[in-house]
Amino acid sequence: MRLRLLPSSFENDGAASSRQHLTCFVINGNVAVDAGSLAMAVTAEERTQIRDVVLTHAHLDHIAGLPLFIDDQFSELTEAVRVHATTDVIEVLERDVFNWSVYPRFSELTNEFGKVMEYHPFEQGSEFRVGELLFEAVGVNHKVPCSGFIISDDSASIAITGDTANMDSFWENVNARRLNALLIECAFPNDLAELAAMSCHLTPAGLAEELEKLKDRSCETLVINIKPSYREKVLREIEGLGISGLDDLKVGKVYEWGRSTISSNHAGS
Ligand SMILES: [Zn+2]
Repeated sequence: MRLRLLPSSFENDGAASSRQHLTCFVINGNVAVDAGSLAMAVTAEERTQIRDVVLTHAHLDHIAGLPLFIDDQFSELTEAVRVHATTDVIEVLERDVFNWSVYPRFSELTNEFGKVMEYHPFEQGSEFRVGELLFEAVGVNHKVPCSGFIISDDSASIAITGDTANMDSFWENVNARRLNALLIECAFPNDLAELAAMSCHLTPAGLAEELEKLKDRSCETLVINIKPSYREKVLREIEGLGISGLDDLKVGKVYEWGRSTISSNHAGS
C-alpha cells in the first residue's frame, strides 16, 4: 500500500513546505482520504486517477480542495467523483458548501458523460469497499462527527485517526488487527492543553496516553495534523516522549507498506 500526504503550503522559494495546513492523503494513486489540498497538490496523473474521496469529517482543512477538484475537471469527468462520507458530513457539504452560494451543487449537475459528483454514505462501525481498498469506519472524539479509518488492501493494513481527542472504541478496533502503520493526530503543544481539550485535539502528552492503549507497538507510528504555527514545538515535545518508532508523517514522501517492504521509501519530492 502506498500513501502520500499532499503538501499544502510553500517556502519562500515556492518549494513545498512541511507545514500542514490542509489534510489530504492519496492512497495507491487513486483514492483520496480527505480533500484539504486535493485540487491544489495532486500530480497530473493523480488528478485523472482519483475518483474516490473518503472524508473523515467536514472541517474546512479536510474538504477545502474538494469543490475545486471537481470544478477543475468538470467537463472532462467521464465518471462521477464518488464522495464517501457519513450522512452528517454529507448534510454539511450540501447545506454549507455546495449550496449555490459558496459553490455550485455539483451533486445535481451533469456534463456530457453524466453525473460529476455523487455521494456514497457510510455508517460509523461499518465496512465498505473503495476500489481495491477495504475501509472500516470508526467514530472518534472530535468537536463534530468524525471518523477514523482502518484501511486494508491485499498487502497491508493501516489506521488513520482523523482529528480526535482521547478515545476508546478506535483502539478496540485497531487492537483486533495487525497494522503496518498507524497515523495519529497531535495538533497542539502541551501548554495549549486547554485549547486542545476544547477543540477535541491531542497534545504530545495526550498522544502518549493514547499510545498506551495500542497493544501491538511494532507498527510504524506517524504523527499527522500538527498545527503549522506550533510544528517545531510539538515535534520537540514528541521527541521528548522518548517513544521508539514514533515519527511525523513527512509531507510529499511516498510511504509504502506490505509485500516485500514494511519500511517506507523516498520516491520523488
Ligand atoms: Zn477537525
